[in-house]
Amino acid sequence: MQARTTDRPSNAALAEALFALADREPPGERRVELLRAGYWVLDATRPAAHRVAGEVARWLQPIVSQLAACPGIGSLEAAVQRLAGGAGTFQGHREHFLSRMEVDEVLAAGPEELLPSRMRGACHWHTSDSDGKASLETMARVCERRGHTWALISDHSKGLEVARGLDPEGVRMQRRRLERWNHHHGEDLYLVQGLEVEVLEDGTLDVPASERLDVDCVIAAVHRQLGPDRDQTERLLRALATPGVHVLAHPRGRHFQQRAGIRARWEVVFAACAEAGVAVEINGFPRRQDLDWDLARVAAEQGCWFLLASDAHAPSHLEFDAYACAIAVRAGIARRQILNALQPEVFVAWLEGAL
Ligand SMILES: [Zn+2]
Ligand SMILES: [Zn+2]
Repeated sequence: MQARTTDRPSNAALAEALFALADREPPGERRVELLRAGYWVLDATRPAAHRVAGEVARWLQPIVSQLAACPGIGSLEAAVQRLAGGAGTFQGHREHFLSRMEVDEVLAAGPEELLPSRMRGACHWHTSDSDGKASLETMARVCERRGHTWALISDHSKGLEVARGLDPEGVRMQRRRLERWNHHHGEDLYLVQGLEVEVLEDGTLDVPASERLDVDCVIAAVHRQLGPDRDQTERLLRALATPGVHVLAHPRGRHFQQRAGIRARWEVVFAACAEAGVAVEINGFPRRQDLDWDLARVAAEQGCWFLLASDAHAPSHLEFDAYACAIAVRAGIARRQILNALQPEVFVAWLEGAL
């Protein structure tokens, strides 16, 4: 658990207490309500303790109030143990995640040049062409309204059946819409077409080289075979060595509460990224936060480029870039290492290997 120096638990600590209690509950309504309360606290933009009424199940309200009144982290942990009737069953799937309030605190204390509002490019978002909720044009307009000058669309390739990915014809149709947008609005917001392709278990990509040539930016990612039972360094190295790969997205494939993500020798992976000129993504989707700040620091030490991503699947998700910025601040990453900070034509030059 993480504590602030003030005498009341932070939202992150309070959320962790609720998740720890949920861990002790058998499957059922009580467990679901504890989890829901934990997520609500984690995403709250203000101290959650003051506003629990109406937000969490009635039986939980006195418990949340009691936890929120604990005068320190030791006292909070003791309260959790008392309520759970023993030690927690923490499994490591919630380590190194920022609560929404921590994101705001980190950004407020960090350098101005790493604020989300100072990022020119809005990177890695999905449209209704794959598993996003809004059209390309709607998403682009929201990016423009947020003050970005370019944006990187990243729909899934067809290999990821669960996400209704794009086949070659779908890529070409999207390309035409993107060119139409750039013809009319490119001066205000220049769109770059990316494709999030799947790194298969053997490290090959699910889209053949001939089809990858059609897009500006190839974003390689793992979504399956994420078991922690084996070291997956070789899988990633093979993907990184594939000509035409620009970005390694959410490298671990971890997911809050569900899985810790793959194991790999990360210094080796990031050294290969730096060598091949493949950018490392910091995915700001709140349940991913992948890389976390410790691993991002390892990548920074290897001299990698970074792409700060929202992984938005709806217009409101675009603001998840704040989580990625906060992780970059915590990792000590400089603005000159961040692709989002580039002018659109410089980013395009980088994609073409001219930088
Ligand atoms: Zn993904
Ligand atoms: Zn994605």
